[in-house]
Amino acid sequence: MWKGKMNSKKKFVIITGYFKGESYGLLGPQMAATVISDNSEYEALVVGVTNEDDKTDLITALENHFSGTRMVIGFSTLGGRPDLFDLAGELKDKGAVTILAGPQANVDFKGEVGHDRFDHRFKGMSDRFTFAIQGPVQQILPILESGLDSDISEFDGVLSRNKDGQIKENRPAPWEDQWLSKVDWTNIYRLKGTSFARMPITCGQVLQQIGCPHAAKERKIQIDYPADLANETGPKHVTIAQKGCSFCDVAQDKGFMGAVGEEAVKSQMACLPEQADGSRVAFELINESPLPKLDRVMELACECSLELSQINLTLRADYFLKGQENLKNTLEKAQKKNIRILLASIGFESFDDTILKNMNKGVTRQMNLDTIKTIRDLKPKFPCHFGYLKEEGANHGFIHPTPWDTPDISKEVNLTIDMYQLAMDILPPHSTPLIIHHASGLADWIRQIEQQENIQFERVGTTIAWWQHKRLV
Ligand code: SF4
Repeated sequence: MWKGKMNSKKKFVIITGYFKGESYGLLGPQMAATVISDNSEYEALVVGVTNEDDKTDLITALENHFSGTRMVIGFSTLGGRPDLFDLAGELKDKGAVTILAGPQANVDFKGEVGHDRFDHRFKGMSDRFTFAIQGPVQQILPILESGLDSDISEFDGVLSRNKDGQIKENRPAPWEDQWLSKVDWTNIYRLKGTSFARMPITCGQVLQQIGCPHAAKERKIQIDYPADLANETGPKHVTIAQKGCSFCDVAQDKGFMGAVGEEAVKSQMACLPEQADGSRVAFELINESPLPKLDRVMELACECSLELSQINLTLRADYFLKGQENLKNTLEKAQKKNIRILLASIGFESFDDTILKNMNKGVTRQMNLDTIKTIRDLKPKFPCHFGYLKEEGANHGFIHPTPWDTPDISKEVNLTIDMYQLAMDILPPHSTPLIIHHASGLADWIRQIEQQENIQFERVGTTIAWWQHKRLV
């Protein structure tokens, strides 16, 4: 149970969304808690909250933890969960300072574009939070130092609401390696009864690249009308300006900001917890195009005499195909060093070219199938040191249903799944329905359709329900 490492310090809690039964670390919130603990008069910890956790118990645990001192609570990586937004509001009403941070903090605080003119659009969460902060964590330090009672509206990265309800938004400071070097992986807790219990993590994360290269350049793209509307209006499309995949929040939030320096990567690896055999716990390498530099990651570990156990990769099919020779070379070395390389998630998303085009995925059905063939051929060559299977912990991207599913498309996709036996080793146990966040590229698409067709799609929290619309006349 939490005892408080330094009782003289003030307390800061970061609440994040979490999944029941898991034990992964969360780089963003845990790095933020580390920076706050090391550089301010606050001791910060992270609390992962699952859907199943009792919110009354959670509030009691927070009250016990703060024991009468001022509650200062950050919220990050909430995954759009309404229960956590409501919790923030309830805690704010009880006098807590509630701070929204992490991906999409700025747009979720401000609300959907045009919500002042269109009543059905998402109004934002500025009433639930004292303020929001976008961008790197070091920006919170001068705010904490200011005592939180003075005017914080001029600080870098801050979004604040004045007494007339107007929101002021400041540009964030740049990302700097010095703040991306250290993570205390022991600072994450889970709710246990009405207190917090430390959660040992079994998989960490190492940040090697910020954002995604696919989101580096803006392009004009055409996205088809949803299939049900196209049945009424005939085939139509909408043109939007888009960086990266049209559904992606990384693309929208960060674009592509390039690589983190090697010293910071080394330092992050050195922070990973040690296992009983002396090797470091598995980690996810945060780099959407990891294969060309994967070798170097193992060399950097060697330079600091670190033994790695497993590197988990998340990547796209086209980056896999481009980097397959790098991967083969890396696997030869990994085998000698007894390091496992797990293709933890390949974003296939679909096996239909129309749907992939509408997602602006930048890959084709054929690229996805070529990738699967190459992976399957590679597995017997490195049976113990190369993984991609569900049973090995992989969970590949497959988005379904989507607004563009038609009987013909569904038939073709099912045929592909059968013909290539994708359910055997590739498809996850459950597909992910297409989610349209109000600030994603697809939200621009759906708002244009609303205007053109005089219809309204329902809003559900921070998302737009593409399957639910009503005609206005
Ligand atoms: S979904 Fe993946 S590949 Fe697409 S823009 Fe986002 S991070 Fe990049």
